[in-house]
Amino acid sequence: MAKTFRVFATCDIGDAIDLLRQRGYEIEIYPKPEAPPKSLIVEKVKSGIDGLITTLRDAIDAEVFEAGKGKLKVVAQIAVGFDNISRTDANRYKIPFTHTADVLTEATAEFAFFMMGALARKLWTAEHLTRENKWGYWHPYLPFLGDEVTGKTISIIGTGRIGLAMIKKCAGFDMNIFCYDPAYQNHEYVNAIQEIMDLRQARGISRTKNWIKYVSVDEALGQADFVSVHVPLLRAGESSAPTYHLFNERTLGQMKPTAFLVNTSRGPVVDEAALAKALRENWIAGAALDVYEKEPLPADSPLRDPAIEDRCRLYPHFASGELGVEGPLGACHGAGCCFRSFAAAVQPIGVLRLRGCFA
Ligand code: NAD
Repeated sequence: MAKTFRVFATCDIGDAIDLLRQRGYEIEIYPKPEAPPKSLIVEKVKSGIDGLITTLRDAIDAEVFEAGKGKLKVVAQIAVGFDNISRTDANRYKIPFTHTADVLTEATAEFAFFMMGALARKLWTAEHLTRENKWGYWHPYLPFLGDEVTGKTISIIGTGRIGLAMIKKCAGFDMNIFCYDPAYQNHEYVNAIQEIMDLRQARGISRTKNWIKYVSVDEALGQADFVSVHVPLLRAGESSAPTYHLFNERTLGQMKPTAFLVNTSRGPVVDEAALAKALRENWIAGAALDVYEKEPLPADSPLRDPAIEDRCRLYPHFASGELGVEGPLGACHGAGCCFRSFAAAVQPIGVLRLRGCFA
């Protein structure tokens, strides 16, 4: 009789898990909304499960891989980023892991775009004025004004999947676009966007002639009205261009005092103490964050300083919070894919990209 594959999911990922049940896999789901303690993950792995479905909240490192040595066949992560999984340790133990690349591309890009709009047009401050009954009169410029996104210049830091999707949305708002990416430059895409910008102007759809180009990081930071970050979290030693604290006192100091920072990538890409200082001392005009160095955001975070409240928008890692099921499905595909391939040979794969590989 064929062996039943056993899977432990560290989080309820919804109905998609039925895909695995329908294929006869035995599934156990951690029932609480918060992440399980690491000790429980290690215990489950030690008990001989074949697959582990994880989220970005779970630290998957040598301790977990050691516990699963010879038994654990795959770690299938439901998230685009996988900085919580040690690639080095996965390779050392030859245990493949998967992530759900590209399932949140448009969702994350549009959230970044809306964050930028909320910041520029002061939506939070404006709603407070109304709700707190401080809206005493209509006046052309009092008590404050917002500013348009349309026609402004944005820098896209990281032109991978989400960065390119953000470019597409910004082009629709007649923005000029600087791109910066030390590892992957998609000139074909950028040229196509330029053609569309030219056509919009030629046909009278856009009033201005807009442009898009790759530039150096210095130009991207120093010239833009908005800077939107779309990089993976890469610590020192993981890349020749690490992104840990890419935004620090020095780089925040390079931005214009009128500029806004938007971060939907990973929290540790921004040095939060430096950002709070930059906002307090008006080095930049504002910031909108969806991700933090520590999540959930601690009660004593400097980002909660009331002095910067009106210029610092804070969201609860919510760019991925849309109703689509592709993420959970992707994680299940990842698990199923690896069980199938495990029989052949386990390579030190590190990361499998998953789409459509459930057999
Ligand atoms: P991707 O791998 O397609 O693109 C990342 C790009 O960043 C690549 O082109 C890479 O070359 C570039 N890059 C790497 N180092 C860089 C550096 N030092 N400076 C500038 N660019 C650099 O990834 P993606 O699908 O676009 O996702 C990006 C990140 O967004 C993910 O790694 C994840 O952490 C985050 N994310 C967040 C949410 C959310 O809910 N907030 C949702 C999805 C993804």
